[in-house]
Amino acid sequence: MREPSAWRSFAVDLGCTRCDRSWPLSRPHNLCECGAPLSTRYDLAAAGASLDRETLAARPADLWRYREFLPVQSVAHQVTLGEGGTPLLELPRLAARLETGAPSPPQLLLKDESFNPTNSFKARGMAVAVSRARELGLEHLAVPSAGNAGSALAAYAARAGLRATIFMPRDTETLFVEECRAHGAQVELVDGLIHDCGAKVAAGKKSAGWFDVSTLKEPYRLEGKKTLGYELAEQLDWQLPDLIVYPTGGGTGLIGMWKAFAELRELGWIEPPLPRLCSVQAAGCAPIVRAFHAGALRAEPWENAHTFALGLRVPVAVADFLMLRALRESAGTAVAVSEAEIAAAGRELALTEGVFASPEGAATWAALRQLAAAGALRERRRIVLFNTGGWTRYAEGWRRALGLA
Ligand SMILES: *Cc1c(COP(=O)(O)O)cnc(C)c1O
Ligand SMILES: [Zn+2]
Repeated sequence: MREPSAWRSFAVDLGCTRCDRSWPLSRPHNLCECGAPLSTRYDLAAAGASLDRETLAARPADLWRYREFLPVQSVAHQVTLGEGGTPLLELPRLAARLETGAPSPPQLLLKDESFNPTNSFKARGMAVAVSRARELGLEHLAVPSAGNAGSALAAYAARAGLRATIFMPRDTETLFVEECRAHGAQVELVDGLIHDCGAKVAAGKKSAGWFDVSTLKEPYRLEGKKTLGYELAEQLDWQLPDLIVYPTGGGTGLIGMWKAFAELRELGWIEPPLPRLCSVQAAGCAPIVRAFHAGALRAEPWENAHTFALGLRVPVAVADFLMLRALRESAGTAVAVSEAEIAAAGRELALTEGVFASPEGAATWAALRQLAAAGALRERRRIVLFNTGGWTRYAEGWRRALGLA
């Protein structure tokens, strides 16, 4: 198939993830009337007829290579800083340390999302959300953030010429705050956690006139995150791993990848079995892990949440039911890791494989160690860990955890 000269997005509408009601793409949306997140739907039959995997292979290695499966309608509105196309690294030395009970170690891979603009996978979501915001004529965006979402929004808003207001917990690492301010964003520090910041965004909507781009309260960050799944499949020549271990906060990564696999199956580009998903949370804030093991459909809010893996300090998530659904549909699991385990895993990754990860990324290696000890990896031949961000903005947290000073 030749590269289509005029591409188009094959997005059709937004569907509610709970009541299935359809909403048009032509207007900005937050949640459905019923309170659930919206999800972009595509004409995949038409997309598959206009594009194939060989055509895709010739495109530049970035997020926009998947533009047919993204909601942005015109090239003129694509706001890019070069997001996507991150490395998938082999971790042979760590793999050899895993005692799985199988005769040989599994293939262990790390998708290193710290290579994205602003040093985290939040760039994928914000690239698409900000592009759509500009396309829909929005001028001022606001977000609650534990750090990386703020950095990404600040950078992409600056790039697009939009205003950004960011609410962060007062104890957020200062580098995140300074980074956002360097991009011209208005930063408000809140005495509380990310859901308290979210309440501020919601409360100011009418008076300040900003548009809320909170995790999954806006449909397009999910589409950007979805490219994690497309990219992983493509990098592995459309042979997905047995297990994906993912650090989970608000859930866009986990839910986005699961959506990607569903779309790729419908396109006929991948075959079952699909990977099992493992959600990793910090023991100091593990609402999804607790709900998963209790067999619950929704997660109870977590009290006194604490962890230096700031992206995992999410005590309540609007899309809890979608995370739990993805974990169950994938026959996956959920694991909580302690602060000491995260620190030890971070040190081991840095010393053994040369990757100094974010605490959230380090948590995935800690979780894999637990799964191995529980005998859950015997049949897993190929495993992918996600390092969702770099270490640098967490300088204080790492200094304390590793005693570097
Ligand atoms: C936001 C964040 C997470 C959690 O991601 P979700 O998609 O919201 O679950 C994990 N790691 C890092 C580094 C983050 O910034
Ligand atoms: Zn609904």
